[in-house]
Amino acid sequence: DKIDGAALLKFDIQPAANAVSEADRAAKLRDPGFGRVFTDHMAIVRYNQTDGWHGARVESRANFPLDPAAAVLHYAQEIFEGLKAYVREDGGVNLFRPDANARRFRNSADRMAMAPLPEPVFIEAVEQLVRIDSAWIPGGEGSLYLRPFMIASEIFLGVKPSAEYIFAVIASPVGSYFKGGPAPVSIWVSENYTRAAIGGTGAVKCGGNYAASLRAQAEASDHGCDQVVFLDAVERRYIEELGGMNIFFVFEDGSLLTPPLGTILPGITRDSIIALAKDKGTQVREEAYTLDQWRADAASGKLKEAFACGTAAVISPIGQVRSASGDFTINGGTAGPVTMGLRKQLVDIQYGRAPDPHNWIRKV
Ligand code: PMP
Repeated sequence: DKIDGAALLKFDIQPAANAVSEADRAAKLRDPGFGRVFTDHMAIVRYNQTDGWHGARVESRANFPLDPAAAVLHYAQEIFEGLKAYVREDGGVNLFRPDANARRFRNSADRMAMAPLPEPVFIEAVEQLVRIDSAWIPGGEGSLYLRPFMIASEIFLGVKPSAEYIFAVIASPVGSYFKGGPAPVSIWVSENYTRAAIGGTGAVKCGGNYAASLRAQAEASDHGCDQVVFLDAVERRYIEELGGMNIFFVFEDGSLLTPPLGTILPGITRDSIIALAKDKGTQVREEAYTLDQWRADAASGKLKEAFACGTAAVISPIGQVRSASGDFTINGGTAGPVTMGLRKQLVDIQYGRAPDPHNWIRKV
């Protein structure tokens, strides 16, 4: 591979000539919602077989010229990541575990037969974009959601790994993911559709996984639920994860359980929660758990709380579970103390309000 690490880390910074005015930016930041407002810039790095990774730039956010035969438009060779930048009380900016996103991005590239992007280049692209667009990071409980992604750009209709790629990072100021903040969410158990099979792509962050989840998510909405939860593709009994979040269960003895890695996305929030819980001496099992057991444990009182976790929503209590085979309620449909305690602990680390024992924070 023609990867010249040092040269690649020198991004050519071209500030946008058409940047949004301060007044317009303030208006957009007042209630940004999720994923519809974007900053002025993007970072971009290209790959071809002659030059390897090259042309690292930060420039005005703009359309990509894309040939109609570009491989991504036909065979969905595409991967992405999601992480956030937070404003600290001292005015500085924190990134949370960008190294973990860079590593997962490489794993995703490997599974999708794409050119691996060196991890330092991923991190530098994110940092450069955060620096130039730092005025776009909302204060309070808001944050700047960063979306690194890579698309196959070779102009060829044959089914094979693309010889050319575009890596880019865009940024979107966000408020709270779920309307109404960390209020309990309702989830629909998808018994018609599965998300990932053994040997498939469930453990990587490729666009195709999300395309295939939309029908199930629509079914969840039709049943009045906020999110869908998938079962395993073999026995259709074991809880796997939500459309865009991992899941944890909290038992009466204080222990936690979360489904094991394999066909689920290895969430960075999931990994962080496991570490924080273990720090406190809490028992955490990464074990298979069936829908039937969940329902029985909720009824008997053995199960106290359940929550979903991911970068976008951090930690969200699960209040209602609905399925074709019946509905049940967790913790009386309210947010439980273990869930809210973990949420506060994690958010305080992310915003720099609490010590960072695992060195997760990268100051920008
Ligand atoms: N599962 C899926 C399917 C996801 O899309 C996400 C969001 N990236 C997660 C879990 C949570 O991962 P993370 O904690 O790294 O955001």
